Amino acid sequence: MTIQSLATAAYLVAALLFILSLAGLSKHESGKRGIWFGIVGMAIALIATIALALDGGVHGAMTTIGIVLMVVALAVGAVIGVWRARVVEMTGMPELIALLHSFVGLAAVLVAWSGFVMVEAKGAAQTEIAPEMLGIHHAEVIIGLFIGAVTFTGSIVAYLKLAAKIDSKPMMLPGKNAINIGALVLFLVLTVWFVITPDLWILITATVLALLLGWHLVASIGGGDMPVVVSMLNSYSGWAAAAAGFLLNNNLLIITGALVGSSGAYLSYIMCVAMNRSFISVIAGGFGIEAPSSGSDAEQGEHQEVTAEEVADMLANASSVVITPGYGMAVAQAQYPVAEITRILRERGVNVRFGIHPVAGRLPGHMNVLLAEARVPYDIVLEMDEINDDLSDTDVVLVIGANDTVNPAAEDDPTSPIAGMPVLKVWEAGQVIVFKRSMAAGYAGVQNPLFFRSNSAMLFGDARERVEDILKAL
Ligand code: NDP
Repeated sequence: MTIQSLATAAYLVAALLFILSLAGLSKHESGKRGIWFGIVGMAIALIATIALALDGGVHGAMTTIGIVLMVVALAVGAVIGVWRARVVEMTGMPELIALLHSFVGLAAVLVAWSGFVMVEAKGAAQTEIAPEMLGIHHAEVIIGLFIGAVTFTGSIVAYLKLAAKIDSKPMMLPGKNAINIGALVLFLVLTVWFVITPDLWILITATVLALLLGWHLVASIGGGDMPVVVSMLNSYSGWAAAAAGFLLNNNLLIITGALVGSSGAYLSYIMCVAMNRSFISVIAGGFGIEAPSSGSDAEQGEHQEVTAEEVADMLANASSVVITPGYGMAVAQAQYPVAEITRILRERGVNVRFGIHPVAGRLPGHMNVLLAEARVPYDIVLEMDEINDDLSDTDVVLVIGANDTVNPAAEDDPTSPIAGMPVLKVWEAGQVIVFKRSMAAGYAGVQNPLFFRSNSAMLFGDARERVEDILKAL
C-alpha cells in the first residue's frame, strides 16, 4: 500500500472523527467525548499530512529546510497552545477563540499569497497546474485571500472588543452599508480582473480591501450582538480553511473547513433567532440597523441598596427563588457559594431554579458549564423561555452578575442598542436583588432601568463575597 492511499484512508477516518466530535459537542453529557474525537482526529490528520509531505506530497518532496521549518512550527505552536489553554480563565475563552480565528484567517491569506507566488516564481508554464486550470487557480487565490483577510481583521476587532481593549459600542461610519456593498462590488470586479490578468497590484489591492472590510464589518456591530459575531467569525474561519484546502489540494482541509464553516453558520443562525436579530443584518455588519439614538450609561433615578443579612432574611421567608446568573458570576467565580445556597434553600423546601439567558456570560453555554462545575442539578437549570412565564409568581430573583440579559430597555425602548433582544423578565417577580460592584453598564454599554425599579435593590460588592456573606447569615 502506498503512503498516498494510506493517507487518504487516514483522512477519511479523521473526517469521520470530526463529524463525531461535532455531534458529541452538541450535548453536555457527550461534550468531553466530542473533544477527544476531535483531538484524535486532528492527530491522525497531522501524522497523515506530514507523511504525505515527506513522501512527495502534491507539490514534490519537501526539502530538508522545509522539514526543519515544519517541525519547529509544530513544536512552537504546540508549546504556545498548551500554555495558553492551561492559563486561560474561563472568562477569557471568547477572546482566545477570536484570536485563534484570526490565525486561521492569516494562514489562509498566507496560503493564498504563496499560491500566487508559486506560479509567478516558476512561470505559468512550469507549474504542475494544467494551463486550462490556471484561471480557476487564480480565482481560488483571490477568493481564499478575501475570506482569510476578512476573517483576520474581523477576528482581531472581535478580540479587542471582547478583551475590553476597545469600546464595545458599534462604530457608525456615515454610509456604512454603502461602504460594505461598495467593497463587495469592488472585490467582484478585482476577482474577474485578476482571473483574466493575474497582476501583483490587483492582489495587493484586494488584500488591503478585505483587511479594511473585515475591520469595518465587526467594528460596526455593538457589544450586545458579539455572540453572533464570534460564531460568525468561527464560520468564516472554516470557509477560509476550506479555501486554503482547495489551494493546497488537501481534501481533509476542505472537509474540515466546510464542517466548521457550516456548523458556525448554523450556530450564528440559532443565536440570531434566540436574540431576535436578522441573520443577514448581522453578517453584513449591522446592515439596515441605524445608529441607536439612545443607549447612554447615565443613571436613571434613585436606586435602593440592601445588605447580605437582609437578603438572607428574604430568602428564608421565600417559597420560590429564581437565580439568573451572568458574566459577573463567572468573573467572581461565585458559582460554588451559589450552589451551596441553592442546596440549603432546597433542603428547607424552597423552590429554587435557575434562569439562563442564551447569551449570558461570554460564551454559548457559559453559565451552564459553570453551574455544572459547581454540581447544580441539571433539572433546576432552565432556559429563558422555560422560566420567563414563571417569574411573575416568584418571590425573590437573585440577579448574580447579569446585566444586559435582564435589561427591560430591550423591551421598552425601541431606540436602545439591545432593542428587540429577548430578556429574562426578572422585574415581574416580587423582589429583585442585583449583585454587582457598581452602577456601571453591562457589556452593551447601556444603563439598566431595572436597577431603579421599586421592587429592585442592589447588593454591591464582589458577587462571590456577597453570596458567601448570605451563606453565613443563612
Ligand atoms: P453583562 O456583561 O451585561 O454584565 C455583567 C455584569 O457583571 C456587569 O454589569 C458587572 O457590573 C458585573 N460584574 C462584573 N464582575 C463582577 C464581580 N466580580 N462581582 C459582581 N458583579 C460583577 O452580563 P450578561 O451575562 O447579562 O450579558 C452578557 C453580555 O455579553 C451580553 O451583552 C451578550 O450579548 C454579550 N456577549 C455574550 C457572549 C456569549 O456567547 N454569551 C459572547 C460575547 C458577548 P460591575 O462592573 O458594576 O460589577
